[in-house]
Amino acid sequence: DKRSLRSEVRTLQNTVQELRGSIRVFCRIRPPKQKADASGAFGVKAEGSRSVCLRKPPGERRHDFNFDRVFSQQAGQRELYEEVGPLLPGILEGIHLCIFAYGQTGLGAGKTYTLAGQRSSGDPGIQDLAIADLLRLAESFEVRLTALEIYNESIQDDLLSDATSEAESRDERLEVRQSAGAISDVADLHPAQDGTGANSADANQTGSSKYSPFGSMRVPGLKSWSIQNLADVEDALQRVRNKRHVASTALNERSSRSHTVISLSVLRRSGAEVNGVPVGVLHIVDLAGSERTKISQAEGIQMKEANCINRSLSALADVLFALGDSTSSAHVPYRNSKLTYLLQDALGGPGCKTFLFAQVSPDALDANESYSTLTFASRVATSVQKGRLRPRGAVPSPSPRKSPQREEMTWKGPG
Ligand code: ADP
Ligand code: MG
Repeated sequence: DKRSLRSEVRTLQNTVQELRGSIRVFCRIRPPKQKADASGAFGVKAEGSRSVCLRKPPGERRHDFNFDRVFSQQAGQRELYEEVGPLLPGILEGIHLCIFAYGQTGLGAGKTYTLAGQRSSGDPGIQDLAIADLLRLAESFEVRLTALEIYNESIQDDLLSDATSEAESRDERLEVRQSAGAISDVADLHPAQDGTGANSADANQTGSSKYSPFGSMRVPGLKSWSIQNLADVEDALQRVRNKRHVASTALNERSSRSHTVISLSVLRRSGAEVNGVPVGVLHIVDLAGSERTKISQAEGIQMKEANCINRSLSALADVLFALGDSTSSAHVPYRNSKLTYLLQDALGGPGCKTFLFAQVSPDALDANESYSTLTFASRVATSVQKGRLRPRGAVPSPSPRKSPQREEMTWKGPG
């Protein structure tokens, strides 16, 4: 009958998603900012749907990189979303999906564009498309949003919109804790049942929802926003933007120097209370731009920022390498950064899916930066693809080392 057919289709779809792997690495090439150089020889070009070719001066040497899929400069947001959309029903069945946007700093490589789209021209990014679909699917569930920022390895709540000074932002620093149970004390910023409908959020921080978007990892005091419709999402994201705007004027373009994590948790309703473990979670992470410190010659606070960023990005790569290589014995070094520590329950493990969108500019002038990004992301892609070919639970092909070791796994940085 129809019902069993539907469930068979669903099972088949799940199998297809399973075969495509838990970690997928994509490359997106943004439209050029400059006119191509006279010969058109340098810069990044898509070669078919899975490879990218980079020719960088001097010498015009050719470098090739492979990904799960490459999106050329003509690709629209909906084309990218084709990769994400099919996984959303799974979030109601327990999937934890992490979407990362990665790219070099200072280029406008398109991280934020890919996730958040272009507001002025009504061109939604994959974050907006995913949230809209999730809301449609999760009608009978409670959906909650949290937003936080990791700057210089310290965590701040992005839904608290009133941090105006550096001193205040220091005070609201949050910690990550690991708990035995998966229940946390996420404070309720916008209770669903207050009836007033108003987002007079600051007036009501006394809600009773207890859950953590991060599984057994919790961030005590983190505020959550109840999402009923797209207007609620817009309110929440507007708060996040306000906060970022204040922070960026106070602290010199800080928004691109922090990782921002927006998490949408799907929870079962039980009466008026929303308690327990989220069924599934969608995490959207706009990563800080990686930086080629050697050439930027940053000093002081900028040097500290750049080091924090590069260290946490290589910690992320290490985690993805280890997961891609996964054998039961492989050690996954989650503890080497706040980001991987926080997201450990969403990275790896059954029911976890991770998408990394590596963003590059095609311009010849950006070739060195693009080289760094492509090297970083394609190394993750390659390790993941090798792991995928291996039968589940099988021992990796003979190698002198038993499990991934740091020297081997650490991304040494550009140059
Ligand atoms: P990043 O977040 O990586 O620093 P942005 O996403 O802010 O970069 O992009 C910088 C500018 O380039 C923005 O104005 C953005 O709209 C534009 N842009 C980036 N990628 C694309 C794209 N694929 N198509 C159209 N415009 C883009
Ligand atoms: Mg950005």
